[in-house]
Order: sequence, then C-alpha cells, then structure tokens
Amino acid sequence: MTCGQGSASGLAGRRPATVHALAILLAAVLAGFLSACAGLPKPEKPELPKIPVSPEQLVELPWIHAYPARWHGNSQAACSITFDDGTLDQYLLAAPELDARGIKGTFFIITGPREEGLWKDGTTDRQLFSWDQARDLQARGHEIASHTATHVDLKAHPHLAEAEIGKAYDSLRQELSLDKPFSLGWPYWRSSPAANEQARRFHYAGRAGGIQGSSGSPGLGGANGKALDDYMMIGSRAILSTETIAKLDPVFDEVYGNGGWFVPSFHGINDGLIPSTALGWEALELETFRSLLDGLAGYSFWLAPFGEVARYAMQRDELMLEILNDSAGLRIHYSSRLDPSIFNRSLTLVIELPFAYRLESIIEEDNGDLLAFQPDGQAFAKRYLVELPPGSGVLLVQVYRESL
Ligand SMILES: [Zn+2]
Repeated sequence: MTCGQGSASGLAGRRPATVHALAILLAAVLAGFLSACAGLPKPEKPELPKIPVSPEQLVELPWIHAYPARWHGNSQAACSITFDDGTLDQYLLAAPELDARGIKGTFFIITGPREEGLWKDGTTDRQLFSWDQARDLQARGHEIASHTATHVDLKAHPHLAEAEIGKAYDSLRQELSLDKPFSLGWPYWRSSPAANEQARRFHYAGRAGGIQGSSGSPGLGGANGKALDDYMMIGSRAILSTETIAKLDPVFDEVYGNGGWFVPSFHGINDGLIPSTALGWEALELETFRSLLDGLAGYSFWLAPFGEVARYAMQRDELMLEILNDSAGLRIHYSSRLDPSIFNRSLTLVIELPFAYRLESIIEEDNGDLLAFQPDGQAFAKRYLVELPPGSGVLLVQVYRESL
C-alpha cells in the first residue's frame, strides 16, 4: 500500500500508511503469542527484555505508520528569510545578523548590473554586492537565486521573460558554479501565465507575493497551511520600512498555527551609518530587523532557504511509501518520480509504533548503511524521526517488543 502526499491537495495533512493486512492477521495470532510469552519472568526494572519481531512473529506487530513529516525535523511550520535585488547593505548588515543566529537565507539577486556594481532603480542609484561577495554568501550556506537579469516587470512584459530569466540563469551558473539554479524571485513579486511558462524551463520554484496581505491570503507567506497549486507563484509577505514586530506577530501566529510556510521578503537594511547609496528599497532599521529575527526564534519554525523548503515540500508530496511485512522481514520501500540529482535533500520520515514496541535499527538495503533515528514525543504512540535519503530505496526495519 502507499502513502505520502502524492498530490498538492495532500499538503493539508498526514496520511499514515498502515499495515492493514497485519491487523487482520493480528486478531488470530496475537492471542496465541501473548499466551506463549506469558510465562516469561517479569523484569524488575524498566529495562525490559528485547524480543525481536522475527519473521515468524511479524504478525504480532499490530500496526506501523510511516509518513513524511510535513516539514523537516517534524517542525510545526517553515520559514524562509528572503532578500531582493542584492544590494550592498544586505551583504554588510543583514547577512551577519543571519549568521549570528545560524539562519540560512535566500538572496534573489539582479544579475545584469552586478559586474558594474551599480543598479539604476528608476531614478535611484543602488550599490550591489559583488559576485565575490555573492560567492562568499553562498559559501556561508545562503542561497543565491535569480531575480532576473535587469528587473523588468514580467507581468507587464511577458515577452521579455525568456531573455530576462535565461540570462540570469546563465550568469548564476557561470559565476556561482551552480548546475541548476533552483529558485526565481519575480521582480515586483508578479508574473503572468506566459512568464511562468518560460520560468519553468529554467527553475523549479518561484517566489511571488506582495505588499498587501490579508488573513488567509498567500501574501502572508508561502503555503500558509494550504496546498500550493503553483510552485512558480509561492506567496511572500513584503517587509517595508514601516514594519514592526507588533504587525508581524499575528502573521507569525497564523502561519505557525496553520503549519504553513512563512516567506518574508526583505529589501534594504539600515543601521544609520551606511552610505545611502548602499541601501536597498524601503530600508528597514537594523534594530527592527534584529527584533523580527529574535521574534521568529520564539517559534519552532524550520528556518531554511527558500529553495530548500520548496525542494522539501515537492519531495514530500511526491514520496511514495510501501510497507511490506512478510517472511523477508519488515521493509519500507520508498520512491519518487522526481530527479534525485535536483531534488536531492533528505526528508524526515516519521515512523510510529504501538507503545509496546521499540525501533531497534533501520538499514538501507542497497548499501547496508545504518540510518540514524531519534524519538520524537510519545503522545499516542512511539514516534521516531529518520532522515530518509533522496531518491528510491528499501529500508530494513528492525522492531523489538519491549514488554507484554
Ligand atoms: Zn526587486
């Protein structure tokens, strides 16, 4: 049987795969098993004897659930800190704040004027960080992604999409040694169906959004607890110079409560000392930026670059699981239609067992690798988190019975 969230609509919840067949067999066999073991001496301490669930006894495992966690590490919600344009203040002021907190962000950069270092934003000159500085950010774990070549409004001018997106794509490949630049940030957060079509030739995920965001709208950020129907139009919440933690708190609450994906879209950051030509649009006070990052830390968001979270969500939704429990042992087959050279991150697999059982080991059948796992709360079952490698494979799962 299969599980996973194979369609976009599957975003709304977890769908455990249950070994239903076992339940049928269980009724007949469990009584016999219990009576056979009833004579074992009772241990005095919680250190209970481990009784492996051998192939002959497999039918006594009443059920097992396995499903991909909604977000990495089974986090309640996700958050991607994003910056647009690639102005110098972002390198000098914003990135160190992220680094100090261990946050990896995404910088959507305009590629065309980067060599020259100056971008004419209408009538305003803005200094950009250099390709060397972009490579430095990349080496520090941040995502450097496309914001097109010259920042044309591609909703108004979709016929320019191919050239604008294609040129930036080539520059990112060349300058940053990226094989397949994954993400695109739409200039002015907007696009058109024709431009989306072009973008899909180059990229896998696009960040849209805007200044206005009402409750429940994608403008509040990412999936926001709802299914994404177009990964080229992932919503984000623009952060303007007037932003405050008081305004954002309800947004944090809503997205977090929905198990969504919050994508704030920053531009300039100003410490009052930096030259005004180095500032991005709608520059936010550095102190406010710090307070927003610290406010986020009050939640258990999975904080990761935009492309990482998009990859995770796509891999999660395409994952197929099949649980087999027969004379060959307990195995979980996993597979995906996605190309593992692009969709190459691990997924968090959740395995749940009845309380009387314990996960002993998980081995990747192909290479014999022992996979690490960790317990994750015990609300109604034994729950374990396992980092599932990308691609396809078979996990050999060893389960022990702890007590009767
Ligand atoms: Zn922009």
